[in-house]
Amino acid sequence: MTDFNRTRAAFHLPEGVTYLDGNSLGPMPLAARDRVARMMQDEWAEELIRGWNSAGWYEQPRRVGDRVARLIGAGPGQVVMGDTLSIKVFQAVSAARALRPERRVILSDSGNFPSDLYVAEGLARAVGAELRVVEPEAVADAIGPDLAVLMITEVDYRTGRRHDMAGLTARAHEAGALTVWDLAHSAGAVDVDLLGADADFAVGCTYKYLNGGPGAPAFIWTHPRHAEAAEPILQGWMGHAAPFAFDLGYRPASGIERMRVGTPPVIAMTALDAALDVWEGVALADLRARSIELTEAFIAGVEANCPGVTLNSPRDPALRGSQVGFRHPQAYAVMQALIAEGVIGDFRAPDVLRFGFAPLYNGLDDVARAVDVLARLLRDGSWDKPEFHRKAAVT
Ligand SMILES: *Cc1c(COP(=O)(O)O)cnc(C)c1O
Repeated sequence: MTDFNRTRAAFHLPEGVTYLDGNSLGPMPLAARDRVARMMQDEWAEELIRGWNSAGWYEQPRRVGDRVARLIGAGPGQVVMGDTLSIKVFQAVSAARALRPERRVILSDSGNFPSDLYVAEGLARAVGAELRVVEPEAVADAIGPDLAVLMITEVDYRTGRRHDMAGLTARAHEAGALTVWDLAHSAGAVDVDLLGADADFAVGCTYKYLNGGPGAPAFIWTHPRHAEAAEPILQGWMGHAAPFAFDLGYRPASGIERMRVGTPPVIAMTALDAALDVWEGVALADLRARSIELTEAFIAGVEANCPGVTLNSPRDPALRGSQVGFRHPQAYAVMQALIAEGVIGDFRAPDVLRFGFAPLYNGLDDVARAVDVLARLLRDGSWDKPEFHRKAAVT
């Protein structure tokens, strides 16, 4: 059994805070602060340029990628870290589309995160493809013979709705298409099994449920059957077969290494590496079971005690990731009032109160406190103050 008391003790959680926003930014693992401080002194300060070899900076994107691989049902040597998720989406979708050049359509759904859709739209314009966006429920039936790439975010950032990765992948393959799965709200949140689902490409960020810190590097995975055929499109020198030969022409590195672009963010990746220590000894089946326990308890508690909100997430836990949304006409102000009380979730336009549950550090005590505070605010109307209606730049 996974010891969630141990994992919780590995984080700095500020006094008085109930943190239910790890789906936007995970809290700081204590080891990350110490590891980065040590890296700055022992590696950067002392080793200088030698650190690329002596401290293993050059191999870090692959080494850390192997650690992420275990959490998403991928094998060693199949994942590489770097850049931001938006960049990795571009690389994965463009590589998938290049493997189906005779087909025009990139299909996604309206529950996808806008950045993924923006990236695909720009790519489609550049390569003469068409981005088609349908309702989440209509994805399966929109898969047809013109489909090149099915680009889906497994867990909807707003509703927590979880797509059937294996089912949609099988359907796309039957139609002759390839799949790109965005695991932004899946990695570290649910029991992802990329190889089991027979997916083709996957990408994700590491600052949400993987707790790598703001701006932590993203990851990309290619199924081994495509690894030597996938075109990286963003042909950066770090993805070259021999970066230090400084050839004028590009030759892709073998396998997933070709999806590297430029110099990796070593400091940020060091924080992520330390954050991944917390996952040692965590079984994904235990993670999923605890996540369901927490989200079920929260839904039951809110529906029994909080007037004026309606569930904006699937009621069936099998169809849900590790987050729960509730709608309220004044969701922004209600969330600011909650945050002022130390219960931190977030607001998503137009009217959603969003709460992420991270089994590594959230427990039933967090569920109870969040329900209590939300119930009190909604009953006494104390959320309705001018300061709670003022919008900040980042919501
Ligand atoms: C969080 C998130 C992003 C953010 O992309 P960045 O490039 O890291 O800013 C993109 N897509 C999805 C689905 C997300 O949930």
